[in-house]
Amino acid sequence: MTAMNQRIRTRFAPSPTGMLHIGSLRTALFSYLWARKNNGEFIVRLEDTDQARIVEGAAEQILSSMGWLGMDWDYGPDKPSPEFGSCIQSERNDDYTRYIQALLDSGVAYYDWTSPEQLESLRAQAQANKQPFVFRKNMATLEGETGKAVIRIAIPDQTVITWTDHVKGLQSWRGKDIGDFVAIKSDGFPTYQFANVVDDHLMEITHVIRADEWLSSTPKHLFLYDAFGWQRPEFAHVPPILGPDGKKKLSKRDGAKDAAVYATEGYLPEAVMNYLALLGWNPGTDQEIFSPDQLVSVFELSRIQKSGAKFDPVRLDWMNGMHIRNMDPSKRLELAESWWPKEAVQSDKAYKQRVLDLVYERLKKFADLAEYSRFFFARAMAVDVQEIEQETKFTPEEQANLLVATIDLLQASDFTETDLEHRLYGYAKENDLKVGKYFMLIRLMITGSRFSPGLFETLNTLGKAEVLERLKT
Ligand code: GLU
Repeated sequence: MTAMNQRIRTRFAPSPTGMLHIGSLRTALFSYLWARKNNGEFIVRLEDTDQARIVEGAAEQILSSMGWLGMDWDYGPDKPSPEFGSCIQSERNDDYTRYIQALLDSGVAYYDWTSPEQLESLRAQAQANKQPFVFRKNMATLEGETGKAVIRIAIPDQTVITWTDHVKGLQSWRGKDIGDFVAIKSDGFPTYQFANVVDDHLMEITHVIRADEWLSSTPKHLFLYDAFGWQRPEFAHVPPILGPDGKKKLSKRDGAKDAAVYATEGYLPEAVMNYLALLGWNPGTDQEIFSPDQLVSVFELSRIQKSGAKFDPVRLDWMNGMHIRNMDPSKRLELAESWWPKEAVQSDKAYKQRVLDLVYERLKKFADLAEYSRFFFARAMAVDVQEIEQETKFTPEEQANLLVATIDLLQASDFTETDLEHRLYGYAKENDLKVGKYFMLIRLMITGSRFSPGLFETLNTLGKAEVLERLKT
C-alpha cells in the first residue's frame, strides 16, 4: 500500500507492437489523471523487450497520440530520469541482469534448459490428463550449454497471493495454479513479467493502472515484489472497451480507429479526452462535459466501473460538438483555419468569423465545416425546379413568380436582419403563403441546401449584391 506522504507515481507502459488503440489510450488516460490529480508524476515506459514483435514507427505514433491528447509525461522515452535512467526497457538490461542474479543467488530463480519440443510434450500430456498445464521445477532440464537456458522463477505450491484491486476487489491466487514462469528468455532479454516488476520498483510506481487482461499476471508480479522484499504498488485493472453490441471487445469493425486518426478528422483533443474518461468511469454526477482540468480534479480510482463500457461513435461526435460550442469564438476561428472549403481562400478573417459564428452550432467536428459553409463562399449548383417543387409544393410557375417578387422585395431592403425579416414575413402574410415553405424556397435558391443557419442571418452575411446575383441566376 502507498505510504502516507509518498508521492504518487503512475505509468503507461506500451509495447511498440502496433498503432495505439483507443482502448489503450483510455487506460493511459486513467493513469495520467490519477497522477495529475494527486500532484504526482506520470511516466511513459516503452516495453520493447519482445524484439521480434516491434513495429517500426509504433513508438513514435504512440507518443504523438498521447501528446496530441494533452497527456504530458514527466519522464518518457524522450526524457530519461536522473534517478532511474532510461524509460526504454531495451536500454535497461543491466538492471534486469543484476536483479535476476539476486534471485538466482537466493534460490528463487533457476536455469532451465527444457527444449521447446519437451515443453510441447509436457503440455500435450497435461491436456491428455485434462489438467491445466503448470510448469514445475521437477519438470525442468537443469543442465545444459551455457547461454542457452531460460531463467525461471520457482513459485512454491503452497504460496497464496492476495491483494485488493481498486477495481476488481479482493483477489486471491494459489501458487500451484501459477507455475514457474520465465523471467529471462534464452536470448537474454527479460520477459514482460520480470522487466515490468523491476522497472515499476526502480521507477517508484505507486499505482499500476492497466487493462484487466493483465490481471492473471499480477500474482506473478506480486510474488516477485515479495521475493525481493520490495514494497508492493497498488493495482487497478481496468475493464475493456466493448463494441456497440456490449459483448465483444471493441474492434476496428465497430468504427473504432487508431488514436492518431481522430486528430486528422478534426476532433478536439479535449473532447476525445472527455469522451474517453467517461468510458468505464463516471464522476458520480450528471455532468457530462468536462475540460481536462475539471477531469483532473474530479477523477477517482474508486469510480472506475467493474464492467466494460460500450464505445459509441455518435456520443463521441455529440461531445466533440459540445466542446466546439463551448469554445471561445476566436480560438474556434483559429482551429477552424485548415478546415475551410477551398473556395474560402480569398475570404478575409472577419467574413470567416461571421460565417463560423453562424454554422458552429451544427459542427460535430471541424471536418464538417467545408460542407456546412461552402455556400457562403461559392455559388451552389442550381437546384432543380422539380426538386424545389417536391420540397416546397410550389409549382414551377409559382416558383418563377415568387422569385421575381422576392427580387423586387429584396432590392428595396437595406439588408439588416430586422428589415429582411419584416419584408419577407410581411410578403408571406399578405399573399397567404406558408412561411416555412416560402423561406425554404428562398433558402434552396440561394444556398442550394435544405439546411442553413437562420435565413435572415444568412442573407445578411452574404450581402445584398451577392444574394440578388444568385437569385437572378
Ligand atoms: N507492455 C504491457 C502492454 O503492452 C504493459 C502492461 C502493464 O501495464 O503492465 O500493455
